[in-house]
Amino acid sequence: MIYPSNKITLQSWQSNLKGKNDVLKRDGIQMISIGILDLQGDVSEHLEATKKALKKMDIESDVLKVKTVSDLSKCDGLIISGGESTVIGKLIDKTGMNLSIVEQDIPVMGTCAGMVLLATETDYEQPLLGLIDMKVKRNGFGRQKASFEEEIEILGCKYMGVFIRAPYVEKLKDGVILAKLRDKIVALASGKHIVTAFHPELTNDTKIHEYFIKEVLKCVE
Ligand code: GLN
Repeated sequence: MIYPSNKITLQSWQSNLKGKNDVLKRDGIQMISIGILDLQGDVSEHLEATKKALKKMDIESDVLKVKTVSDLSKCDGLIISGGESTVIGKLIDKTGMNLSIVEQDIPVMGTCAGMVLLATETDYEQPLLGLIDMKVKRNGFGRQKASFEEEIEILGCKYMGVFIRAPYVEKLKDGVILAKLRDKIVALASGKHIVTAFHPELTNDTKIHEYFIKEVLKCVE
């Protein structure tokens, strides 16, 4: 991410964030890169939504598709899309990214299948990243025919959630609940990670992506 003089500087941006005021520099150039895991699922929608959020925030950043450990090493934050968590999980293991994602210790946003993958436990046998100590129930609101849109409240605003074979969080050890639907946890933040059971990339509202970008900025020094 490069901050031309007519853009917001990272310093002024970070001074709006709690705690961190350091200027991010790589070779003298201020920048961050956001990766979208590109193994399976609705990757291009996340790419567009991330670009739109960055534009809205007046921040220039690299947004790149991540297929390999080498792609991942360039990222300051990673988004794991919806799709089929068993398939994505197996491919994450196969590419060796399971270890790199944990070791790199960057903020990760997981949506729907991505939420499942960040869990330590689900009701299926499947490879997981275990970044958030939680148990997720897959297809918790029913299968494909039970996909729906419903208004929730998140980050102090009303928000239209798109739920497609959506999971929910059954048990959470450590985290901040951001949204519930029908008494079930459907969004939360834990440390620098954020997960949603719904698909923020399928709505025009970029507030969830903006939240994640702020987390990435907070974590990069
Ligand atoms: N139910 C799917 C899974 O567990 C997730 C569905 C989705 O990402 N839309 O993998």
